[in-house]
Amino acid sequence: MFDIFKKHNVIAAVSERKDGSMKVYADKSEAESVRENRRKFLQGLGVEMGDSVAAYLTHGNSITLVEKEDREKFFDATDGFVTKEKNIFLTVTVSDCLPVFLFDPKAEVIALAHAGWGGLEKSIIPEAIGKMKKLGASPKDILAAIGPGMEKCHYEIGKELAEKFAHIPGSHEERNGKLFLDTKAIAKYQLLEEGISAGNIETSPDCTFREKEKYFSYRRDSYGQPEKLEAMMAVFGMK
Ligand SMILES: [Zn+2]
Repeated sequence: MFDIFKKHNVIAAVSERKDGSMKVYADKSEAESVRENRRKFLQGLGVEMGDSVAAYLTHGNSITLVEKEDREKFFDATDGFVTKEKNIFLTVTVSDCLPVFLFDPKAEVIALAHAGWGGLEKSIIPEAIGKMKKLGASPKDILAAIGPGMEKCHYEIGKELAEKFAHIPGSHEERNGKLFLDTKAIAKYQLLEEGISAGNIETSPDCTFREKEKYFSYRRDSYGQPEKLEAMMAVFGMK
């Protein structure tokens, strides 16, 4: 789905509405069907569910290092993963928040982060890149992709949130007296600040709110009712 990874032997994907709900917080009545959705989607990518890891997200900045023996685990309180190992597939769920894919093909280090405004404010992207560097990655070699998420066309916010990101150029815009957040611009700014070159960053043009046939959107479909949340799954791993 991203041109930037095409030459490389990686799997990078985000599920769509047609693939069904992928949420990790499924209650008992849905757990079985969600598990089946996740299994089928991964299988379509040529990935065994037993070779993946999943996360219970907190909108924080914790990035967990995973190794082969972690396959099939669900991790509590983490918003992303980093690994140096092949054939372990990192997954996070998203619904308006951005999945951010990071890959250093030279050092063979890969990371996947779930980045909403909370994670971006807590610098989850610098955190992920820092952990990649510890495994030998160099920002100049890192290829980055910012996945689909709610865009500034629909991401209406209050003044307080706009102020949190005011130091970042293009982080929000004002239209008809309303403020809109541009999380993709914020993510890109953080990537550039970490030394990733602009030519190595690809950004999905998709807005999850706008494209209602294609994606679930928390803001559009279940705002204020987290129990009705549906989510897509982002997957990233080296083969
Ligand atoms: Zn939109």
